[in-house]
Amino acid sequence: MSTATENQSSAELNGKHHPICDELGFPTDPDNLYLQTVEVMLGACDLLGLQHRVQIILAQPKNEIMVHFPVRMDDGHHKLFKGYRIQHNNALGPYKGGFRFHPDVHLDDVKSLALLMTMKCALVRIPFGGGKGGVKVNTRELSEGELQRVTRRYCSAIANEIGPDYDIPAPDVGTNAQIMAWFADTYMMSNEGKDANDGIRVVTGKPVEFGGSLGREKATGQGVADVLAEMLPGIGIPVQGMTASLLGFGNVNSWAGRILQDMGAKTTAVADHTGFIRNENGIDCNALAKHAEATGGVKGFAGADDCTEEDFYRTKVDVFIPGALEQMITPQRAEWLDCKVMAEAANAPSTPGGDRILVAKGVEIIPAILANAGGVTVSYFEWLQNKSSVVWSAEQVDRELNRHMVLAARRTLKFRNEYKCDLRTAAFAAALDHIGDVYKVRGIFP
Ligand code: NAD
Repeated sequence: MSTATENQSSAELNGKHHPICDELGFPTDPDNLYLQTVEVMLGACDLLGLQHRVQIILAQPKNEIMVHFPVRMDDGHHKLFKGYRIQHNNALGPYKGGFRFHPDVHLDDVKSLALLMTMKCALVRIPFGGGKGGVKVNTRELSEGELQRVTRRYCSAIANEIGPDYDIPAPDVGTNAQIMAWFADTYMMSNEGKDANDGIRVVTGKPVEFGGSLGREKATGQGVADVLAEMLPGIGIPVQGMTASLLGFGNVNSWAGRILQDMGAKTTAVADHTGFIRNENGIDCNALAKHAEATGGVKGFAGADDCTEEDFYRTKVDVFIPGALEQMITPQRAEWLDCKVMAEAANAPSTPGGDRILVAKGVEIIPAILANAGGVTVSYFEWLQNKSSVVWSAEQVDRELNRHMVLAARRTLKFRNEYKCDLRTAAFAAALDHIGDVYKVRGIFP
């Protein structure tokens, strides 16, 4: 088994082809997102000296479920949709992970996101495994009725493969609390005669009036802010007065921007699918959130100037927070970036080439499995509340979330100091150390 050398970075590990990838016959395309994710994980496994059997188990998901289902459109014709549910690993507990509605949903991407969920849950030490789902669909082309029927048919297509103690979905890109409510209702209806309340416990991220948790909507953004508050002082950047730029201004980044603003940070550039805006004196994220909700994006916000894509990336900031889609930080954009820290609010936001450039430039990368773990952590609190029929106060949710995020950040720093590696490898190692311990005591059946 190869051993990573001191100071080896995840970007360097990405450049090689791990022997286990050959053994399992993985594609060799270096831009394949699944390969990128697996190689970082295997590099961290090597660092810890994890057994070959654990490495091959984690290198592939346990189950890859692919479904096709017809949906009646408003004009009366039926359209066939493709959906996925990937169950990566359940050594620590039920599979857990969101499902997305997006035209670019592909098997390898969903596999990659499911693997990251396994790592995320293990890093924050919540008793869940990792899963992810998705439907290849452009929600902007659907009426509300069509969206509801796609949701309900997707739920019924995978209903036999999930369960409140087996696999618990949640929202992701293109899905929201309303969609989780339709999903829960469909599960309840198809589960009639059994425990109807399973429908409430089988999915998280629901509306508060239907079993959702207070604080879930802002949880991922809150977690990004909690991790930055814990880690930045050690990097010599006080949160009070720090500057930030935000790529994406949806659920995660609009909350991260607003919460960081309350902590005294200044956002000077924001981009989303509608455009790029900049104001060196600071953008009011509360006002921007209202504008984006009313108009569908950040473009045309009166409190900032429109700028070019290049201007956006070149804006000099302390912290750049990508919170849009995967693989957006290409080598060109990485060259343009002028930041000390990149906090990955989105999963796998940079391409392998982009990642290599950021590492070479000395940008400190706070990895997604740490930075955006706040969402799944509060999903866990929602599931706990649903199972025990209690309601936590917003203060209790925030306090417990902060405790989990701070401990996960400290765990990551401890592994970095111990193994002299970058933060991404350290976060994977801190997660894998826990999973490795569980396999050690459980053994492998039979
Ligand atoms: P969202 O759909 O609410 O927001 C996505 C944002 O990305 C929007 O502002 C959109 O305009 C922007 N965007 C899309 N395409 C773009 C493009 N080409 N250029 C610039 N901006 C673009 O999604 P979200 O829930 O905020 O999730 C954002 C990321 O965070 C995703 O990668 C998701 O997987 C990850 N994440 C979300 C959660 C959660 O709880 N919502 C938890 C963990 C990780």
